[in-house]
Amino acid sequence: MLPVSEAQVAVLQCVSPAASVSMPITDAQGLSLSADIASTLDSPPYDKSMMDGFAVMSADILGKPSDDPIELTVQEEIMAGQVPRSPLAPGCATRIMTGAPLPEAADAVVMLEESAAGEPRDGTTYVQLRPQNFRKGQNILPRGASMKVGDTVLRQGDALTPAVIGLLAEMGFDKVDVCPPPRVAALSTGDELVDFTAQPAAGQIRNSNGPMLAAQIRAARAIPIELGIARDNESALRNAISRGIKADILLLSGGVSAGDLDLVPGVLQSLGVRQVFHKVFLKPGKPLWFGVRDSDADRSNPTLVFGLPGNPVSSFVCFELFVRPAIRKLMGRRALHRQMLSFPLAEAYTYRGGRPVYLPAVTEESEEGPCVRVLAWRGSADLRRLAEANALIQLSQEAREYASGDSVPVLSLFED
Ligand code: AMP
Ligand code: MG
Repeated sequence: MLPVSEAQVAVLQCVSPAASVSMPITDAQGLSLSADIASTLDSPPYDKSMMDGFAVMSADILGKPSDDPIELTVQEEIMAGQVPRSPLAPGCATRIMTGAPLPEAADAVVMLEESAAGEPRDGTTYVQLRPQNFRKGQNILPRGASMKVGDTVLRQGDALTPAVIGLLAEMGFDKVDVCPPPRVAALSTGDELVDFTAQPAAGQIRNSNGPMLAAQIRAARAIPIELGIARDNESALRNAISRGIKADILLLSGGVSAGDLDLVPGVLQSLGVRQVFHKVFLKPGKPLWFGVRDSDADRSNPTLVFGLPGNPVSSFVCFELFVRPAIRKLMGRRALHRQMLSFPLAEAYTYRGGRPVYLPAVTEESEEGPCVRVLAWRGSADLRRLAEANALIQLSQEAREYASGDSVPVLSLFED
C-alpha cells in the first residue's frame, strides 16, 4: 500500500496543465493565470490625496507656533474626477477631496477635521488650519506607490480571486489568458443504488456520492459531467466507462474493493486504462484505484481515472486528497494541496492506531483561542458528521492518546 504523499506524487506526475485560452476577466473567477502579468500603469496614476481636506505647502505650516491657527488663502477646489487648474502658490491651500490629484507644489494634506472656515475678505476665501503632529508628505499617496508600469504584479498560477479581478480591471484588462476548467465525469456504481430522487426499496440506498462529487467538482472550479448509476455487471460498466473516458478526468465511486462484484479495475484495464496504483495506506479511503488512459486520436491529453471507494466519507476524502490537486494542476494552479494548519485539540482523543487517518473535525473559537474538535463520527458511511466538518484532522498510524491542547495538523476544507 502506498503512503498518501507517494500516491499524491504518482497522480500529479501524470498531469500537465491544459493549454491556455483567453477569457473575459468577469468569466474567469477561480481559474488561474497562465502567464505572469506586468502592470500597465502607475498606481495611483498621480500623487493622490488620501483625505478630504486642504492641500498645502509644508513650508507654510512647519515652524509656526502650534497654538495659533494658520490662515491660508483658498486657491481652488478640486473634486474627484477634476484636475487642479494651477500649481499651489505660497500662502495658499487648495480644497481637495479623497482620491483627487494634488496640485503641483503641494506636499501635504491637512484633513478637513483640522480646519475651520476663515472670514471672507475682498472676495477671497480663507481657511484656518490647526494640524496635529503635522509632517511633510502626510495624507498623500505618491504616484506609483503601490505599483509602477512594468512591475510584475501577478504570477502564472495565481487564482483569479475577487481582488485579482479588481486589480486586472484597474489595469484595463478585459480578457486574460487562463487554463480552461477541466471536464470531470462521475459515475456511481452499485446494484444497491437508486437515484437520490427515488424511494429506496428494502436493501437499497440513494446515490449520495453522485451529487456530492458533482458539488466537489464544481467547488474545485471544474465542470461536472454526471453519468448517473451503473449496475455491477461488466456490460453496464463498460458502456458507462466508455463514455466517461472522453472527459479529462473520470471518477468512479464504488466497486474497487475486493468483493465479488468489484469489477471496476478489470473493466478499466480492458478499456485501455493503465493502472498506476491500487490501495493507499489511509483511513478512510484505502481501496482507492488510480490509472491513466493515454491520449489517442480522440483526445490530445491522457484521461485520469480514479476509482473512489463507495463509502461516502472515503469517497469525499479521496477526492480532497487526490482528485482536487489533479484538477488544480490541470487548471494551472500553483498551490495544489489544501492548506495544512496546526491547531490545539479542544478535547482529549485516543487513536487506536492502524493507518494514517483523516478525521472529520471542526475548527472553532474557544476561550483559549482557536482550536479543533474531533467529531464523533461513526466511520466511513457517516455523512451526517462529515456535513458538520470544516476540516480534517490528520493523525499518523501510531496508537496514541492525544491530550486536550496537543497540536495536531489540520487540513482546512474552506474554499481557496
Ligand atoms: P463499494 O466500494 O462498492 O464496496 O461500496 C462501499 C459502501 O459504500 C457500500 O455500503 C455501498 O452501498 C456504499 N456506496 C457505494 N456507492 C455509493 C453511492 N454512490 N452513494 C452512497 N453510498 C454508496
Ligand atoms: Mg459496490
